[in-house]
Amino acid sequence: MVKTRFAPSPTGFLHLGNARTAIFSYLFARHSGGKFVLRIEDTDRERSKVEYEEAILKDLDWLGIEWDEFYRQSERGDTYREFVDKLLESGNAYPCFCTQEELQREREEAQRKGVAYRYSGRCRSLSKKEVEELRREGKSFTIRFRVPDGETVVFEDLVKGHIAINVDDFGDFVIVRSDGSPTYNFVVVVDDALMGITHVVRGEDHIPNTPKQILIYKALGFDVPKFAHLPVILGEDRSKLSKRHGGVSVKAYREEGYVSEALFNYLCLLGWSPPNSDREIFSKEELVEIFELKDINSSPAVFNRDKLLWMSGVYIREVLSVEEVARRLIPFLRDAGYRVEEEYLKRVLEFTRDSFDTFSEAVERLKPFFVDEFEIEDKFLGMLEDMKSYEILSEFLSIVEESKPQNTEEVKKLAKEIQKKLKVKPKEIWHTLRIALTGSLEGVGIDILIALLPKGSLSLRIKRVLDRIS
Ligand code: GLU
Repeated sequence: MVKTRFAPSPTGFLHLGNARTAIFSYLFARHSGGKFVLRIEDTDRERSKVEYEEAILKDLDWLGIEWDEFYRQSERGDTYREFVDKLLESGNAYPCFCTQEELQREREEAQRKGVAYRYSGRCRSLSKKEVEELRREGKSFTIRFRVPDGETVVFEDLVKGHIAINVDDFGDFVIVRSDGSPTYNFVVVVDDALMGITHVVRGEDHIPNTPKQILIYKALGFDVPKFAHLPVILGEDRSKLSKRHGGVSVKAYREEGYVSEALFNYLCLLGWSPPNSDREIFSKEELVEIFELKDINSSPAVFNRDKLLWMSGVYIREVLSVEEVARRLIPFLRDAGYRVEEEYLKRVLEFTRDSFDTFSEAVERLKPFFVDEFEIEDKFLGMLEDMKSYEILSEFLSIVEESKPQNTEEVKKLAKEIQKKLKVKPKEIWHTLRIALTGSLEGVGIDILIALLPKGSLSLRIKRVLDRIS
């Protein structure tokens, strides 16, 4: 059975690149009818933070990525110790007593010679007695994995193809730090093996770690899983996507009010596309159905924020129901201090949901439907004074008070009446009403606004303007 995992380190917010890794790993597991594991890699005690773990879980939940098993590495110390002992016993690992200063000297030496640094292997052949002696003296030590000389580790990556790395590129590496904490390359192998992971899907920045991990798998007698290393995501300037490119955390998009399904859909298309199709909008269920690792592109994908924004808009306009848009939008509107009544919002959305791409954009866009208080700039007040606005608004008010138009047809009829009676141009009527009711000349359809706004709001706004012009 296929089993994949996502293994974030809680040292920051979930980055878009990691979210895409989670999505691919998840989709592949679901597509194969397998299991998906979430493992929090929090062995770096200094940099790991509970807040980050909480935020990552929240983001995954928001994206609709559910897991079958959950682990936290900080709770698995005993398990790791057991396997360190195994490696020490079999001679595949050894204690290294070299001090920081000694290692630093080795590093500088390599730098001077212009060669890549690798550990000299000074503690490789300490006798049992020497080790005991040094330990008795209380000297601090790390534990290193004994890398077989000269070997080339080869694996067939499911995305990147054939990869061969000579172990001389790295040499004996540390698997337990001097404070007793095991390192990433070691624990990842123990966990992936014990959890039965069949496919390791992760970013290509981990390719240099893979041969080290394969050596450990073999030394412990574990089956080596298959690897799928995903290409990086680039910004529009073709450099690796980073903070410099603006919002790069899932949290930022969640808080901005992007549609979560759109982010999921968009990230999935960064480096994957369905065979023989240029279709772009897919539900999660459809993606589960068709997603295959073999369709992942091995070259980097470029992140395009405008495209993501567009896709979020498509979900608002065409994919989500009005009820669903309303349900998700309400918290944003309430946060902005609007008093929202759900039935009214749904009616507003029927006419306006094609006018915004995110929920935070909707907060601005829909303001005239919810907020009676607004400033009218002097230039607009000036315009009202230049037009026959006083007459128009008085006429409008008296008609509305008698019978408020209920739909855009009735609004248009009302405008015609005023036009005939006062002999003014239609443009003058619409501009006047727009400024009086919204404070500006841009924004939502004014006929829609008049049809939907409660009578009380219409009168209040009109009367306030009538008081200010003559
Ligand atoms: N904790 C590692 C990271 O966040 C995961 C590496 C892996 O998937 O093996 O980069």
